[in-house]
Amino acid sequence: MTQDSRNDAANNRPLQVACPQCRKSVEWSSDNPYRPFCSKRCRLIDLGAWADESHRIAGEPAMDEADMDALIDKLERGGQQ
Ligand SMILES: [Zn+2]
Repeated sequence: MTQDSRNDAANNRPLQVACPQCRKSVEWSSDNPYRPFCSKRCRLIDLGAWADESHRIAGEPAMDEADMDALIDKLERGGQQ
């Protein structure tokens, strides 16, 4: 058995977080070098998005250019809620 470190983790009830990229449930543990992402792939996607300056709020659909224009227009008019 190679479960020694697992037993220790079980005692500490590892925190579950949602991957910011795909929303999959991930254990926040030192076993996961990509935390809070579930995988290297998701982390790279997120880093790539930042690099492209197209990063969006995790879990939200991407905003269209048109939506963004409408929002800016609304804010410039005084931001009526
Ligand atoms: Zn993920």
